[in-house]
Amino acid sequence: MVELPPLGAHVSAAGGAAAAIGRGVELGCTALQIFVKSPNQWRARPLPAAAAAEFRAARAASPIGPVVAHAAYLINLAAPPGETRERSLAALADELGRGAALGLDALVVHPGAHLGAGAEGGLVRVAAALDEVLAAVPAGAPRLLLEITAGQGTVLGSRLEELARIVELAACGERLGVCLDTCHAFAAGYPLHEAAGHEALLAELDRLLGLARLGAIHLNDSQGACGSRRDRHANIGEGEIGTAAFRRLLRDERLRRVPMLLETPLGDDGAGHARDLATLRRLAGDVRLSGRGRRAARRAG
Ligand SMILES: [Zn+2]
Repeated sequence: MVELPPLGAHVSAAGGAAAAIGRGVELGCTALQIFVKSPNQWRARPLPAAAAAEFRAARAASPIGPVVAHAAYLINLAAPPGETRERSLAALADELGRGAALGLDALVVHPGAHLGAGAEGGLVRVAAALDEVLAAVPAGAPRLLLEITAGQGTVLGSRLEELARIVELAACGERLGVCLDTCHAFAAGYPLHEAAGHEALLAELDRLLGLARLGAIHLNDSQGACGSRRDRHANIGEGEIGTAAFRRLLRDERLRRVPMLLETPLGDDGAGHARDLATLRRLAGDVRLSGRGRRAARRAG
């Protein structure tokens, strides 16, 4: 019998966060990623206490373990002083508060874009922004995970050295973790499609940040080639990364406790995640699908 890492997908929280648990259970997930508010808007109505309680109860009654949230795409922690920076800090603090109310394990955020200020200047701004936000965040808030990026334009965080630099610069560095997105890392130039690339990436992660900081992995194949800097997710086995890389990640003992989450296309029939989860379980060597997972996989064809 193979022990799988917590495995799941980013699911919609339409109808409330508790509804996301139902969607995850239907897919046979043991981990989940959600948005705690609309990712394309700055503001959102406050989270009602009843909705948070409903979510906690649904989660407790489910086989779902770790739940992480992905922060709004509008947030730019590297923005210069001004309206975008103010809004970004307020939005991140609000999302951490929502995550605390829901009892989430982590909140994934992109480091930001330096917009011409240069990488080092941008990283200094990100660290200062994180310190400002985390200083005001109550205990029990989810751990903040800096996600590796594909490195398009002036986007920061496409090298592990940059994520490590933020941790080094921030006074709150010990509270920060990282999220490894396979599509982003591959597009940024990490050759995950090769066994040597997998080993080198984990060794570098351990050396620069410590493996304990790895709080989540986004499992996405990549439409773009290695080093293309294109952030285009593909379904598992249908991109340039290929299935062998996902088998290595799923079977790596060092990653056994790290939640692994799909952010792949749903497809015209909406069953992309069910298919990808079935593929991942097969790659991991787990033939004992749960009843619900097996039904979902069969429906997905
Ligand atoms: Zn991602």
